Amino acid sequence: MRTAVIGLGVLGASAARSLALAGADVTVLERRAPLAGTSGTSFAWTNSHNKNPRSYHDLNVAGMAEHDALAEEPGPCGPWLARTGNLEWAEDDAGAERLAASVAELTGRGYPVEWIGSRRARELVPDLRVPATDIAFYPTEGHVVPALLLARLWGEARDRGARLRCPAEVTGLSEVDGGVRVSLSGGDATVFDAVVIATGRWTEAVTAAAGHRVAMAPPDVAGSATVGLLGYTNPLPARLHRVLTTPALNVRPDGGGRLVVQGLDLDADADPAAPPPADGEHARKLCARLTGLLDGTAGARLESLRVGQRAMPADGLTAAGFLGGSDRIYAMATHSGITLGPLLGRLAAQELTTGRPVDALTDFRPDRLLGRADLPPLRPARFAGQQ
Ligand SMILES: Cc1cc2nc3c(=O)[nH]c(=O)nc-3n(C[C@H](O)[C@H](O)[C@H](O)COP(=O)(O)OP(=O)(O)OC[C@H]3O[C@@H](n4cnc5c(N)ncnc54)[C@H](O)[C@@H]3O)c2cc1C
Repeated sequence: MRTAVIGLGVLGASAARSLALAGADVTVLERRAPLAGTSGTSFAWTNSHNKNPRSYHDLNVAGMAEHDALAEEPGPCGPWLARTGNLEWAEDDAGAERLAASVAELTGRGYPVEWIGSRRARELVPDLRVPATDIAFYPTEGHVVPALLLARLWGEARDRGARLRCPAEVTGLSEVDGGVRVSLSGGDATVFDAVVIATGRWTEAVTAAAGHRVAMAPPDVAGSATVGLLGYTNPLPARLHRVLTTPALNVRPDGGGRLVVQGLDLDADADPAAPPPADGEHARKLCARLTGLLDGTAGARLESLRVGQRAMPADGLTAAGFLGGSDRIYAMATHSGITLGPLLGRLAAQELTTGRPVDALTDFRPDRLLGRADLPPLRPARFAGQQ
């Protein structure tokens, strides 16, 4: 099966790998560069927090298990997943109530989480300036270094013969006798047996080019649910190999001693058209919060402060499946795509190569979003705690 995968972020790399492993002849068409989209600017925490309804929670739990299974398979690639857990706490009464309710819900769903005290917290993160409050510890969560995850997925796709055309911007998709004609800017066109659209926050434009517009939340509105600031520090001598999600700051390691920091309250100022400087007020706040949280971070500075733009289907849930009754054009777009990428790529390849629908995707078909310009904007408050 000659298959085009459009987009080389985590979802496209994962689909390319699974299709190539299944014996498909895979060409990836990428407009700018691998990781040029949202996958290159992500907090990259693997989790299933605040994911509702239940089927969406279960999908994310399955996404975490897929990472574990992939990490257990030996591969000629360095470690890209740290399944080292996450520590979370609240600072005020309202936050404590929300956290207790979330922990109770997760416990009811059989999701591993335990309350720990300050001694255990210090054992888990020796440099933590332990807060005087109860801490929730989620042992099965972790984080990914996105470039290394892409190295693993895309590397294995290449080993199985997958090719990259880059730069290659897809401008048109149409079903023709026995295939899908894919047109590129510049005038080139090729017919493939099947196409996977994995274009993240550009999904609305690319699906519209196929005649089936999937509604996405606008990715570039300042202060909206789709935008968020991420700071990348200089290398620091701090002992942190887990994720921290705290009221003032989320932190994860990024390899080489660098940390990724995120202050969700600052996202109200995130504007893709005017990214703040890496040495300005936002950067200073993030660094001050970091030194208040972790020993070993004195003198921290940001090497970059980026505005991430989430890929969000307009109702906030995953979209994965064939488009508009086609059995050749498949679309995948989701927030939490780091958690879900390896799973969604495998399931997409399975549906494309066998023609049999996968039950886990029943609630997430993209056709529910066709032409849905009427959906209300997503509220930042709902998504702030959902990565
Ligand atoms: C601030 C922030 C924090 C996040 N935190 C987390 C988290 O903790 N955990 C988690 O699981 N997820 C998180 N996410 C979400 C996650 O990063 C994304 O869901 C995921 O990276 C999306 O991957 P993708 O492959 O779908 O899209 P992308 O990585 O955006 O890739 C799409 C690719 O398609 C290409 N493309 C677009 N249009 C065309 C075209 N016409 N022709 C050819 N190529 C095209 C682009 O150039 C791009 O390379 C976060 C996101 C943000 C912004």
